[in-house]
Amino acid sequence: EAFEVLGLSPAVLAAVRESGYEKPTTIQEKSIPIILTGKDVVGASQTGTGKTAAFALPTLTRMGAPGKFRVLVLEPVRELAAQVVEQFEKYGKHTGLRVLLVHGGVGYEKQRKGLQQGVDIVVATPGRLLDFMQEGIADLRDVEVLILDEVDRMLDMGFLPDVRRIVEKTPTARQTLFFSATMPPQIKSLADFALKDPESIEV
Ligand code: AMP
Repeated sequence: EAFEVLGLSPAVLAAVRESGYEKPTTIQEKSIPIILTGKDVVGASQTGTGKTAAFALPTLTRMGAPGKFRVLVLEPVRELAAQVVEQFEKYGKHTGLRVLLVHGGVGYEKQRKGLQQGVDIVVATPGRLLDFMQEGIADLRDVEVLILDEVDRMLDMGFLPDVRRIVEKTPTARQTLFFSATMPPQIKSLADFALKDPESIEV
């Protein structure tokens, strides 16, 4: 199989070609066509499988031109969030879409400016995002795609209540993509709350 048959936009395909990838990984082949239809997805995939591109490539394709803050990705830790930002920037470099990293442990000012200047995609850790939501600086009302990544690690870190509060502030008419290596009851419960008639993808 080739990337060309999956339905990605020309701008995204050009970036994929430039990154030197020869063919899609298994999770990319399985999930890209489903995500492009707008369906919710629950994926049981580890890092290292090409999971980030599996959600970033179709999401960038669906977004089209730059506009408002429409895509929110939650990550458990800053390092993962930073890697996801890098991948969105790499695959989105011909789209003009703006990506912002929001995480704790550093000053607020630079991230606050980024939000105020306008972004299309925010990749965040939950605590800092909630701070900006309380300040009224991060407004989730236009979010169309919500990506909950590494949810099992969010559970380990005690973030599930924060994640739930964030999900509650997004529109119900969103698309939700949910990734967790394991599905213990607390994660299953969050999945039931966040997802609507999802497709399951295992790799
Ligand atoms: P991830 O599982 O998202 O952490 O990705 C693991 C690594 O695989 C990243 O460094 C990606 O750049 C790389 N990668 C993703 N998709 C492909 C692909 N189709 N072919 C080759 N490498 C890829």
